[in-house]
Amino acid sequence: MAQHKLCVKHGVMNQKPQLHIFSLGGTISMAPTLDAGSGVRPTFGAHDIVAAAPELAEIADISAESLSLKGSANLLFSEIAELCRRAASLSCSGIMVTQGTDTMEECAFLASLLYGGPPPMVFTGAMRSPAQPGADGRANLMAAALTALTSNGPAVSLVMNDEIHHPFYVTKSHTSNVAAFQSPIRGPVGQITEGNVILHPVQPAPTFDIPDEFAPVALLPAVLNDDGNLFDTILSAGYAGLVVEGFGAGHVSEQIAEKLAAIAAKIPVILASRVRAGSVFERTYGYRGAEIDLLNKGLVPAGRLSGRKARILLSLILGLEKPDWRQEFTRVVKHV
Ligand code: GLU
Repeated sequence: MAQHKLCVKHGVMNQKPQLHIFSLGGTISMAPTLDAGSGVRPTFGAHDIVAAAPELAEIADISAESLSLKGSANLLFSEIAELCRRAASLSCSGIMVTQGTDTMEECAFLASLLYGGPPPMVFTGAMRSPAQPGADGRANLMAAALTALTSNGPAVSLVMNDEIHHPFYVTKSHTSNVAAFQSPIRGPVGQITEGNVILHPVQPAPTFDIPDEFAPVALLPAVLNDDGNLFDTILSAGYAGLVVEGFGAGHVSEQIAEKLAAIAAKIPVILASRVRAGSVFERTYGYRGAEIDLLNKGLVPAGRLSGRKARILLSLILGLEKPDWRQEFTRVVKHV
């Protein structure tokens, strides 16, 4: 399936920039199966996607490569790492990645930790498959291509619905709306309007080496009236780290707090929030199970990073076997 064509200039007369497209699957690649009622499935590779958007060739010389063809729930950290490795070896003006929207915020966040550009790398996809009325994939491809060919944005960004989002903040906020992606803390870092890319300045994000392996890190939310039995399985299951999504600004029940203290004595434990926006607190609430107690028990605050992004960051840092994981984790948290 994979067809590789490096993006090198085709000739001295050709002034178009070079755009390389990696496709991973997702709704933008999906078509109905022959059995009516069986739903859409990943079908189209990178070359089909490019062929369905002929306007891309008007703004760039395109090379396209299918890295996988699957629903994005099946993507692996190692596949995103490999994509970043390949991206770093390309010589082109911009890189676009098409994939499913379900995990796009996680993949773009991981890529932003592993790839510093240039050229810019832009993730995009579609909320509606190509055969659906109002399919959004083609418009997203063009907006993402224009962003990927613009050099003053973040090294990695996510473009959907004519908005450019920073991977640290963006989250999928709706199951079906084409305006599903939002950055609740700071809003988009740019827009595409009438073919123009308008970007607000962003600080370069910290990047890391690509690890040989990612460490297994669990993510558990605080939920009401929880006996905490799942927390008891974390150490015996072999996790190297845990992220807990606390209530509100980072709170759990007294019972869970004791379990977290025991876990944090053995492996790194990060305190994030199950709330969609805002920072975990560090010095406001003093009752048992609140943030001051949890941080005293050894948990490390995730700041404004969501639990799922904190999990990716910890998995990467532990995979790299960094001597001071807290310092490395906090370095990124402070950037958010
Ligand atoms: N709505 C998702 C998408 O946009 C479903 C499939 C997936 O994430 O791969 O692609």
